[in-house]
Amino acid sequence: MTLDAGELTELKPIEHFLQSRQEALPGRQLAAIREAAPAFKEWFAASGTPGFVRTCDLIELPYPRRFALWRASRSPAPFVRIFNRMMVVRWNDAGGHRRTMLVEPTEHYLAAATPYFASMEKRHPRMRTLAVSVHGTVEGHLERLGISPEEIDFITFDHLHTQDLRKWLGTTRPAEDLVASGKASLPRAMAAEPLEPFFPNARLLVMRDEWDQLFGDSLHPLQRRWYQQRTFADLRDDRVVLLDGDVQVGPGVALLSTPGHSIGNHSIVLNTERGIWTSSENGVHAECYTPERSGIPGVSSYASEWGAEVVLNANTIEMAAWQVNSMVKEKLVADRGGPGGEWVQHFPSSEMTPWVGSPGTAASFVWGGLSHGALQRA
Ligand SMILES: [Zn+2]
Repeated sequence: MTLDAGELTELKPIEHFLQSRQEALPGRQLAAIREAAPAFKEWFAASGTPGFVRTCDLIELPYPRRFALWRASRSPAPFVRIFNRMMVVRWNDAGGHRRTMLVEPTEHYLAAATPYFASMEKRHPRMRTLAVSVHGTVEGHLERLGISPEEIDFITFDHLHTQDLRKWLGTTRPAEDLVASGKASLPRAMAAEPLEPFFPNARLLVMRDEWDQLFGDSLHPLQRRWYQQRTFADLRDDRVVLLDGDVQVGPGVALLSTPGHSIGNHSIVLNTERGIWTSSENGVHAECYTPERSGIPGVSSYASEWGAEVVLNANTIEMAAWQVNSMVKEKLVADRGGPGGEWVQHFPSSEMTPWVGSPGTAASFVWGGLSHGALQRA
């Protein structure tokens, strides 16, 4: 049985954007978001800061240019590269207890079985050697930081594309395929029993829409290629917390509903010593949030021709107008920084990075990581 957000008193509903979430027309929703954002931002900036934020490099991989930059880029290159990172966030709760959240702890060896990646591997068998670079694993980074799996209180993903969460959350039945694949570094003896969760105390924070679509016949054909739906059937769900909207998780730590890239997408919002940051996969680069300033060939002219405030990460365009709204929400909430202090502090969970195989797509800078505070070890 999953939990509702209301059962966890430490999750505080955020009401600033309630009105905007009820608008049925995207144009009206956009206006409501613009109206609500300043008050939210002022409140959030005064809500405190977490003690520690650090990104951890996981994997760089190729990604179709026409997804990453949709119609905006003029480059003929078929692929760009995106960089997946995990984020570790720590804070003290109201009772003074230390809380630790992992954002995007992707098991990339398991993500490779996503229908989209599996068919890409078939069509471009050499892509893995040419364009994929593995930088680390979730377990490796935690070990390096001196954080034990038991210390993880929350895990969250901006959305559940590509995820197989069985190793992290455990299963209700033996997961023979997972153990036999050898990809999850699990001992063979575990094939006969349900999997124990790797993070025994972690709660998964996920929007209800994102979760519900993974069961029965709820996934639309346009969405199927991006999910590992069958891996959710036997997942232990007693620590899954379903969110119905924006919540504050800790001081200066919030999850805002930002549907678009996926139907139950959310953004992680952090108040740091460098101001407010948002993070999600709605856009793949900070330049996509101020396309009029972008130096990527084609992007600024696209912005002026179409009056585009943002450039979508467009692998899923069934909710394009809502995705624009969500990116504007992120843009209005995030502070400015980067070179010249002009760029929206949106940290893409998959950040487009310069790559020799992708001429004509290089942005003027990359965030490359996010760091705030110091780690207090146990
Ligand atoms: Zn995605």
